[in-house]
Amino acid sequence: MVTDSTARAARGTRPESREAGELRAIRSQHPQLQSAVDLHLELLEVQRRVQGRVPLPNLEITGASLERHQSTATPLLRFEDIPLDLSDLRLVVRQTADVLRRYGALEELDYQKVHALGRDMTLLAVVAKWYRSAFERQVASLGAQPGSFAEMEASDVINQVLTLSMRPFLARCAEVLQQRPELALWTHPHCALCGGEPDLSVITPSAERHLICGRCELRWKWESLACPYCRNSDRARITSFATPDGQYRVYACDKCRRYLKAYDGRRATRPVMPMVDAVATLPLDAAAIQRGYSS
Ligand SMILES: [Zn+2]
Ligand SMILES: [Zn+2]
Repeated sequence: MVTDSTARAARGTRPESREAGELRAIRSQHPQLQSAVDLHLELLEVQRRVQGRVPLPNLEITGASLERHQSTATPLLRFEDIPLDLSDLRLVVRQTADVLRRYGALEELDYQKVHALGRDMTLLAVVAKWYRSAFERQVASLGAQPGSFAEMEASDVINQVLTLSMRPFLARCAEVLQQRPELALWTHPHCALCGGEPDLSVITPSAERHLICGRCELRWKWESLACPYCRNSDRARITSFATPDGQYRVYACDKCRRYLKAYDGRRATRPVMPMVDAVATLPLDAAAIQRGYSS
């Protein structure tokens, strides 16, 4: 008999083991990426263990609610609605910091800070601020409200740890919205679920571009060329180039100088896998940064 929890465990493990297999394939083909692959294999394992037991959230998703959020550009998922288990969150924060420290991706001082945060009673408040800051940044960038978010922003390092630690919880929430047709009503360049920025995209076999949220991994259709960070849609000011194998593209904006990578699903043998593709495109990041763009 398949119980809820075994079905959940199966859902939780299957895609991850496929991701792990793809990561190992990258390691054997590109020995110079070995340390990055090993780091991500460990992060994947930390996230997989927790994600398997995160329940699905109760989200009200109807055409009317999507229309309402679409018209105000407000993401659907409120912080209070994330099925967050505090002891699981503490665990994943600590383990993420341990992995990053072991691979030299976290300085000793930042490591101590993250561990202190993991024990602190204010962890939830810090995470809530981090969660809401993404949408506040969107509002500020639209000029609707002068940014007060800067003062409440945690350091980049803390943000990076929180992004990784919250992924198991947010990815479960994204699963719910991802399969709903109402998602097609959303036309903004920030995430419909959590308000996060895209940090990857995928070109579908029908040549549409779908943005992928850097926090919850939700995918949604957006314009195929315009810059999602500043909305520049002047073709003459977007530089686009592909990797020699045609597997990935970069769209670099000559207005805001940021770039977005895309996994080209038109010639792919597997679906896009954000964590795998983040590692596979590290050389592409270096190329874009060398040309003067930032992520
Ligand atoms: Zn998101
Ligand atoms: Zn731009």
